[in-house]
Amino acid sequence: MPNGKPAGMPCMNLDMETLRCTIWETAVYPPVCRNFRPSLENCGSSRTEALQILADLEAATRPEQ
Ligand code: SF4
Repeated sequence: MPNGKPAGMPCMNLDMETLRCTIWETAVYPPVCRNFRPSLENCGSSRTEALQILADLEAATRPEQ
């Protein structure tokens, strides 16, 4: 996303019906996604757990208001 992804928002490239990336393996697939390696620490063992880990990380890294 040109100006970064706001916390709590899904990536604009995520198809919300299939939950698949719409630009995977295309020329515009970003290095941050290409280099990401899933792990139990980051992804948990279910989609629900992954979303909670992501929410916790976003809360922990939220800039001071
Ligand atoms: S893999 Fe990257 S570009 Fe694709 S939906 Fe996920 S965050 Fe977005």
